[in-house]
Amino acid sequence: MTDIKTVAERDRSSVLHPFTQLKDFATGKIGDPTIVTDGRGVSIKDAEGRSYIDGFAGLYCVNVGYGRTEVAEAIARQAYKLAYYHTYAAHTTEELATLSDRLVRMAPGAPSKVFYGLSGSDANETQAKLVWYYNNLRGQPRRKKIISRERGYHGCSVISGSMTGMSFYHDHMDLPFPGILHTGSPHHYWGAEPGETEDSFSRRRAAELEQLILREGPETIGAFIAEPVLGTGGITPPPTGYWREIQTVLRRYDVLLIADEVICGFGRTGADFGSILYGMEPDLVTVAKGLTSGYMPLSAAIVGQRVYNVMEEAADRVGAFSHGYTYSGHPIAAAAANAVLDIFEKEELTNRAKTVGSHFQKRLKERFAQLEIVGEVRGVGLLGAIEFVADRQTKRRFDPQIKVGARISKAARDRGLIARAMPHGDILGFAPPLIVSEPEIDEMIDLAYRATKQVMDELAKESQT
Ligand code: PMP
Repeated sequence: MTDIKTVAERDRSSVLHPFTQLKDFATGKIGDPTIVTDGRGVSIKDAEGRSYIDGFAGLYCVNVGYGRTEVAEAIARQAYKLAYYHTYAAHTTEELATLSDRLVRMAPGAPSKVFYGLSGSDANETQAKLVWYYNNLRGQPRRKKIISRERGYHGCSVISGSMTGMSFYHDHMDLPFPGILHTGSPHHYWGAEPGETEDSFSRRRAAELEQLILREGPETIGAFIAEPVLGTGGITPPPTGYWREIQTVLRRYDVLLIADEVICGFGRTGADFGSILYGMEPDLVTVAKGLTSGYMPLSAAIVGQRVYNVMEEAADRVGAFSHGYTYSGHPIAAAAANAVLDIFEKEELTNRAKTVGSHFQKRLKERFAQLEIVGEVRGVGLLGAIEFVADRQTKRRFDPQIKVGARISKAARDRGLIARAMPHGDILGFAPPLIVSEPEIDEMIDLAYRATKQVMDELAKESQT
């Protein structure tokens, strides 16, 4: 390999890194880029030979773990045989037909067809266009607005970035786009009134959604999009009763439900899909990440019967479905997805996420819930988060300048664990590969605990000076 310094310099001078403070990176204030070189099982290695347990599976995607030869070989086989062909004008490949058949059989709701993209963002962009298309075709052209939630994450393209309910994804980028609205987040810890139960909080959130629909005019609302478990906005499972109450409102006003299963899909929550766990009946389902475990870029907008039937019925009138990418349904990505789904089935990863996940949830609570800077420990399956606060009683947050979440994440990294400082507040997030073992979970939690203790000691010292 080229020497590390050269790689770092080339990177610094030529890569525009996502979610990176550009000046701090350009001037070296945040150090050199981490050059990631290898991955095996639940661990990755950097160019300096350091090894880390990847407690976040890349970006919640490497569910089958790193270095799976079955997937690498499936990719190579397909590349040798047929590296590319498009899917326009009714062309296909065997890999793609097989994958689509599997997805239609396993997806939640009443799936009919699968449209392919390359990222969660573009799949959600497709979902917005499908909502508009469907409503135009069925003679309801005013039903165009899409409601998402504060702190929901749905991507960063024009419409998906607008759906994302965190203002720092909008600032200086002219988002949100008109017609994308936001309603309250499902986070009981921060959103509930004193003494309000989860059930009554859920009813209040549903009532707020209904008020928004009525204020805007139900004849203008096309869809509601949400993650079954709110992800990047803080890894927050819904409060009890939430999805029942929300769906009652959506049905009352004939509003489509888009389930963004980009994180929850394929076992992460201990159910095959988050929608199944929470009794959601989505009309449109977005998947990405776990679909290929990150081995190839691939996403899908899974179209339910209700929407698809209108599209097919109108076809004689409106002509071809005019939407698609050069790489929609790429055969190598489809081959990777089939190999990943084979592992997912053979190794019963949903079941694993459920059993190892319940160990993980238990240990996370045992180790962290009583710490004096911990406000809440939450999660489901192999998704978990610890929320840090300055005062547990009043829920006072730390001064953002202290960067408590980022410091704990950095201290964990120095000890060989990747646990993500979530972008909203002081939150440490976990989403390990679904193949993780119980001893690896224990090691992960132990490293995170020691990192937290280290930062608590530092904070105590800083408060004395
Ligand atoms: N939806 C959800 C729920 C996500 O978590 C993400 C990515 N973190 C996306 C959409 C966007 O996916 P991508 O980054 O592949 O565009």
